[in-house]
Amino acid sequence: MRKNEPIRMCIACRERELQSKLIRLQQDNHKIFPYTGQGRSFYVCDACRNDEKKIKGLTKRFRLSVEESEQFVKYLKELNKNG
Ligand SMILES: [Zn+2]
Repeated sequence: MRKNEPIRMCIACRERELQSKLIRLQQDNHKIFPYTGQGRSFYVCDACRNDEKKIKGLTKRFRLSVEESEQFVKYLKELNKNG
């Protein structure tokens, strides 16, 4: 199998990783949700989505409210459960 997959950068740690290993998310209007196929998206790696400090950094960067941050964290935890 040839490794010609695109490489993308994790927004939190700036590490480059195969696109398939990253989670693609979208941010719009102070909300973060799974990428819908339209609009701006960004990537988060496995290490960062399990790193509370990194996640907090992201919620600050996107200026999420407490409620929005909780939703984001909850979403990431659900991803972990699903593997
Ligand atoms: Zn990362």
